[in-house]
Amino acid sequence: MKSNNTFRIALFPGDGIGEEITEPTRMLLDDVATRVGGFAFEWESCEAGAAHYRDHGTALPEQAMKTAQEADAILLAAMGLPSVRYPDGREIAPQLDLRFELGLYAGVRPVKPVPGVRPILADPRAHDIDYVIIRESIEGLFAPQAPGTIDGDREARETLVFTRDNCEKLFDFCFRLAGKRDAQARGGQRKVTSVDKSNVFPAFGFWRDIFYERAKEFTDVTADHCYVDAFAMVMVQKPWTIDVAVTENMFGDILSDLGAALMGGLGYAPSADIGDDNAVFQPCHGSAPDIAGKGLANPTAMILSAAMMLEWLSVKHGSDEAGLAASLMRRAVDDAFAGGELVTCELGGTAGTAAVFDAVRGTLARADA
Ligand code: NAD
Repeated sequence: MKSNNTFRIALFPGDGIGEEITEPTRMLLDDVATRVGGFAFEWESCEAGAAHYRDHGTALPEQAMKTAQEADAILLAAMGLPSVRYPDGREIAPQLDLRFELGLYAGVRPVKPVPGVRPILADPRAHDIDYVIIRESIEGLFAPQAPGTIDGDREARETLVFTRDNCEKLFDFCFRLAGKRDAQARGGQRKVTSVDKSNVFPAFGFWRDIFYERAKEFTDVTADHCYVDAFAMVMVQKPWTIDVAVTENMFGDILSDLGAALMGGLGYAPSADIGDDNAVFQPCHGSAPDIAGKGLANPTAMILSAAMMLEWLSVKHGSDEAGLAASLMRRAVDDAFAGGELVTCELGGTAGTAAVFDAVRGTLARADA
């Protein structure tokens, strides 16, 4: 952070609906900073993504990477277009390159429905859903140090990698996070669950052994485990029992979309990819080419990701003002949806990008600081 309390933010609009939700979110952040006072943003827009690769031959230009590395935080909307691919058939995914390059091992994916958004589960206890999936984000089945191989049309292999160093950092992050969370809803119990497949794959036995080793260092938090298939069921049957759940990269990719569905859709699901020094904040969703350009994208996930960015900056730099701005943004979102009239397109309503932004800006302007 600069001495004049200015946070430098690398801003990646990316592809598809990314463009549509980035600029209004930036304006909301500037609004809330002006409102609270004591800090400001300096924006550095970065071009990267599938369209950039198609038009210029690079997905993540060196300058954009440098800007991201040097920024106080990175705010990213979505990247990738199914029609744009590398010669080997893979999609362009600079968001993954940022995770690997910057060592962003902890993918934080809160599952906490916005009150006022029509609940997906009928059970009244679904109102109390408030948990976090931590998706390991630089190893597992996505590990770049063990690329898959294809032997002609006869065989294809992918390799899953866990290293002790990364597992230890990841589990410590989870136990520390659980230690700080509000435990009232679970009768005071703080818990981290390892979601794995150690009944079949020895690599997950390795993962789970390290998980319980690290658990011994955090006596205020309970550690338990669940196989990933059973955990998918728990997420639907009794999600109010989950607190922090840590899982492998690919499992986390899938389970967090299930979590998003239980919040009302991907447009409600924020996330953060956190490392020791850097962090990327971005909605869980992709570039949604099916609705791009139609004004239908729900920007709530992007706005809540921006609130997560403010919280992270507040803790990292000891800025009470950024913390206050984060709670104002969250309250503005809750208030915008509180009456039940704002129904987004995923849930069968008519509220598109502009309607949600207008509503949130309106409640932000009216909120008491
Ligand atoms: P997607 O998340 O883009 O869309 C899945 C479905 O959810 C679509 O029906 C879409 O319309 C809907 N949706 C997504 N975000 C929404 C929003 N904010 N409001 C309303 N509806 C929303 O996933 P996909 O279609 O599988 O992938 C599209 C592209 O995005 C692909 O190129 C993929 O690789 C990429 N992708 C990128 C990221 C990322 O940047 N982190 C994540 C996932 C997918």
